[in-house]
Amino acid sequence: MTATIIDGKAFAAKVREQVAGHVSRLKEEHGITPGLAVVLVGEDPASQVYVRSKGKQAVEVGMNSYEHKLDAETSEADLLALIDQLNNDPAVHGILVQLPLPAHLDSDLVINAIDPAKDVDGFHISNVGLLGTGQKSMVPCTPLGCLMMLRDHHGSLSGMNAVVVGRSNIVGKPMAQLLLGDSCTVTIAHSRTKDLPEVVRRADIVVAAVGRPEMVPGDWIKEGATVIDVGINRIDAPEKGEGKTRLVGDVAFSDASKVAGAITPVPGGVGPMTIACLLANTVTACCRANGLPEPT
Ligand code: NDP
Repeated sequence: MTATIIDGKAFAAKVREQVAGHVSRLKEEHGITPGLAVVLVGEDPASQVYVRSKGKQAVEVGMNSYEHKLDAETSEADLLALIDQLNNDPAVHGILVQLPLPAHLDSDLVINAIDPAKDVDGFHISNVGLLGTGQKSMVPCTPLGCLMMLRDHHGSLSGMNAVVVGRSNIVGKPMAQLLLGDSCTVTIAHSRTKDLPEVVRRADIVVAAVGRPEMVPGDWIKEGATVIDVGINRIDAPEKGEGKTRLVGDVAFSDASKVAGAITPVPGGVGPMTIACLLANTVTACCRANGLPEPT
């Protein structure tokens, strides 16, 4: 059997189109332009790429994008002062601080300084608590994108066995909460999990968020399971020429796609959905801030 490829790139384009529609209605009917502020501290090359992409896509859907690039030595006090300024700026509906921050900055402190209503990454402790208790919150973008693809593919997820490999605060844990919210039976696996292959083999849904290239081989996947590969790993690709690299996920795609019922590719799966969900969260934050109905 050959798995259905879940096309995250196409799905993300659809989400962006919907977001653009909401943005233009907000402008025309209410004179409001959603605004997204992205804060980058330092010069991490991957972070620079992400930030540029977020700003560009925000503008493409008609939002205002405010980029704040601070140098790597920025003090905590200066960063907190900027966040305070953005919290109080009515033109800014979403604030995102690109992680990781340089080591001298306390990420938890910084993230928790963001107004939870503007925390479009969903990492503020209030949003984490709201999500965990099933209340209205800002949902972290990567797991939200994964959930949207799963719902789109399956309709209802109720009763399915879901295994999330990875327990980070930004992917694994919120992913597990969302799957639980959709009535899956959820297992969270991590580096101390005993007999990981057996655990993964029980899953109707596997979400791999580990950060190890092709760690999940095809023979860990139950026949017909749906595989969501969050991992983004750059590996050497001598076949493309000297010094060349390519991106792979946490799942061995070519073997897994012979067994799985559906699978997301890397690149072109979860990655594009993450930014699309960031834009969707910004529209949601803008509607909430203005007492307007949220897009569904
Ligand atoms: P973290 O490093 O924060 O977490 C990795 C998790 O994997 C940890 O919980 C760790 O367990 C677990 N783990 C590590 N080794 C093993 C192992 N051998 N067996 C089982 N579990 C293991 O990573 P993130 O959650 O931030 O990211 C995961 C991956 O997703 C990365 O490749 C990242 O680049 C990618 N990513 C992609 C995004 C996208 O937009 N597509 C967005 C965010 C991340 P333990 O806790 O025990 O150490």
